[in-house]
Amino acid sequence: MNGINKILTENFIDENTPIKTISDSLIENAGVKLLIKREYLNNQYFSGNKWHKLKYNLKEAKKNGFDTLLTFGGAYSNHIYATAAAGKIFGFKTIGVIRGEEHLPLNPTLSFAGKCGMKFYYLDRKSYRQKYNVELLKNLRKMFDEFYLVPEGGTNELAVNGVEEFVSKINIHYDHICCPCGTGGTLAGIIKGINKEKRALGFSVLKGGNFLIKNVENLIGENESAKSKNWNINLDYHFGGYAKMNSRLIDFIDRFEKENNIPLEPVYSGKMFYGIYDLVLKGHFEKGETILAIHTGGLQGLEGMKEKIKRIRVSKVIN
Ligand SMILES: *Cc1c(COP(=O)(O)O)cnc(C)c1O
Repeated sequence: MNGINKILTENFIDENTPIKTISDSLIENAGVKLLIKREYLNNQYFSGNKWHKLKYNLKEAKKNGFDTLLTFGGAYSNHIYATAAAGKIFGFKTIGVIRGEEHLPLNPTLSFAGKCGMKFYYLDRKSYRQKYNVELLKNLRKMFDEFYLVPEGGTNELAVNGVEEFVSKINIHYDHICCPCGTGGTLAGIIKGINKEKRALGFSVLKGGNFLIKNVENLIGENESAKSKNWNINLDYHFGGYAKMNSRLIDFIDRFEKENNIPLEPVYSGKMFYGIYDLVLKGHFEKGETILAIHTGGLQGLEGMKEKIKRIRVSKVIN
């Protein structure tokens, strides 16, 4: 525990990241106000929502005497990156169970995680789908000894508590609060952290995001879901699926960055802001309302997507 508190008091983590008004004529002309909480600036290594999701898990693991964290993710996962860094900084060994086969040289995400000391164990896609299977976990425990299990994407009750705490400290006026959704853990924390006059809107970054609604209901608890009709998940801006992108999305991101001087990436924040802009232009929000968008981080992934993004830009010029 001392390690974590020490790092917090050394201001390693910015607990008060800036909120900026997006002064973009597209938004202003629509008569709404769009604010961005630049949470990607909270720290360099476990940036954005991943810090809030990990924080209480790290404390729990320390409290119970674990010296190893094991978690799951794709090869470009922000969560794998964040867990590896957290392990290095807070003194845990880390094991990353990675979806798919090993590709060498390692991509920038896994290369960083490896430098932090993370050990990798690769699971084919089919087995990965059953990653919480008792037999598999037993085998992993045989291979790696005891570990504290952090679920894929870091989502569990402690993660939701961390996000809830973060959101409840935002004390400016807003009517809607938005975030991208991968597992729904962040949205669940947001729903728990806001008072009931405000509305929370998540944007699914994956196709077939219906399961997210169930996930979020489970995470906030039955009671909560029954009375709270103040949240929703939009399923229209996944761009074909997780980490899928096209020139419309890349164009939007390029324009957004130029207008607002804020970096986005195409897996999470790009899709959310595309969705927010589109909904604003379609009149989804009432005139005079304020929307607060949480920039949840994920910029580490850009390095590994550079070539893909370049190809999309080039192919557009040729066509
Ligand atoms: C992991 C991640 C999300 C998704 O969070 P969930 O809690 O899984 O819904 C959103 N944005 C970024 C940048 C992420 O890395």
